[in-house]
Amino acid sequence: MENENIINEQKIFSLLDQGKQATREEIFEIIEKAKDCYGLTLEEAAVLIQTEDKEILETLFETAKMIKEEIYGNRIVVFAPLYTSNECTNNCLYCGFRAENRTLHRKTLNIQEIVQEAQAIEQQGHKRILLVCGEDNKKTHIQHITEAVQAIYRGSDIRRINVNAAPMSVEEFKLLKASGIGTFQIFQETYHRETYAKMHPTGAKSDYDYRLTAVERALEAGVDDFGIGVLLGLYDYRFDVMAALMHSQYMDEKYGVGPHTISVPRLRPALESALKEVPYPVSDQDFKKIVAVYRLTVPYTGIILSTREPAAIRDELLSLGVSQISAGSKTNPGGYEKDDREATQFETSDERSLDEMLQVVCEQGHLPSFCTACYRANRTGAAFMELAKDAHIHEFCQPNAILTFKENLVHYASEDTKTKGQRLIAEEIEKINDEKVKAETVERLKRIEKGEKDLYF
Ligand code: SAM
Ligand code: SF4
Repeated sequence: MENENIINEQKIFSLLDQGKQATREEIFEIIEKAKDCYGLTLEEAAVLIQTEDKEILETLFETAKMIKEEIYGNRIVVFAPLYTSNECTNNCLYCGFRAENRTLHRKTLNIQEIVQEAQAIEQQGHKRILLVCGEDNKKTHIQHITEAVQAIYRGSDIRRINVNAAPMSVEEFKLLKASGIGTFQIFQETYHRETYAKMHPTGAKSDYDYRLTAVERALEAGVDDFGIGVLLGLYDYRFDVMAALMHSQYMDEKYGVGPHTISVPRLRPALESALKEVPYPVSDQDFKKIVAVYRLTVPYTGIILSTREPAAIRDELLSLGVSQISAGSKTNPGGYEKDDREATQFETSDERSLDEMLQVVCEQGHLPSFCTACYRANRTGAAFMELAKDAHIHEFCQPNAILTFKENLVHYASEDTKTKGQRLIAEEIEKINDEKVKAETVERLKRIEKGEKDLYF
């Protein structure tokens, strides 16, 4: 089979079979080992992803929390998606944008409309955008995407644009890179070929292998950071989580850099979805386990949680290993200017505004971050991983999170958020160990209060 060196289905099934045999003692040993923050092997991940034992799960969750704090501190990076188009020539059974959905209000934003959306997102206080679109060669071709990226940077104070789009050729990825994107993100949806074929019956996306190898072409073209993920609910999550980890390991071994992020989208109801029910439902408990297993196995990879999830589980997962969240999201093109339910990709669950979300994040003792410094200071790809693994990343991230959050409070936040945020910032400054960095942070906070923007280390 093609690309068996990347995803070997037989090997995954046999790892899962072996994993089932582990004793309680062995499982606790694996969790103990994970505390060193060096990650776990596929064999070990296969054991953890199958555990159903309540006591073991509690230990797993506590350990995920500990590792998250060790590597990322209490920071949570915040972003919003910007949908440029819902026109699509594919027919993914689960998606509201699929070509056979005749009732959807179709729209591709022009460049001016895209900039207006970016400005509306910025008005909420965001600095990071994830650009999302359907796949349609005539509407959302590479020029449309790159023009959109450049126009947003020119026309707003958005400082980092990541892109979630269809797989591209090396030449197209070079153009994407040149436009100044951060991370290129693409989800395999399911790594299980038979299920993949069923879910993607027609259109370019039915080519499993072209999608699987997209991130390699992206790296070849010079894109430094890539993100992966599976759409949870299409197939057995145990298989798909193992496959995503196998993909990650393959990339790490071959290119010296694993995924910058892993996303955990869980299947949502979509307008005119061809799926009448979720094929492989993932319970909240399973979902928490998935996040925890990723955190233990690839501790330096960011985990992204979207507003597909309801508020309660989002709040819980903040502690369990998630490092980035979207907030105040709309999933239809033009949605920040005017909401249209008949144009959305799927139903979001967490409808809280960014301002409300910031209060929750603060109340839970997490520090919201709008930082985009790494990408702009070339701390990306392998260079980023090096710093992250040495824990040097803390030296930049903590003060940068404080500075960018402060900027949000000064320019965009409600009075309640300001009060809670200021209190948190005062506590966070005390946590900076290096006295010079601490003094400089305090100095810069004063400058931000006077109106200066975009100060970072
Ligand atoms: N069209 C491109 C593609 O499919 O790769 C890029 C953007 S697509 C809109 C982004 C992601 O949305 C897909 O990769 C899929 O995982 C997710 N998605 C699609 N339908 C969904 C649904 N009903 N619930 C949750 N996520 C969904
Ligand atoms: Fe199109 Fe992407 Fe939706 Fe599939 S998931 S129908 S490719 S927008």
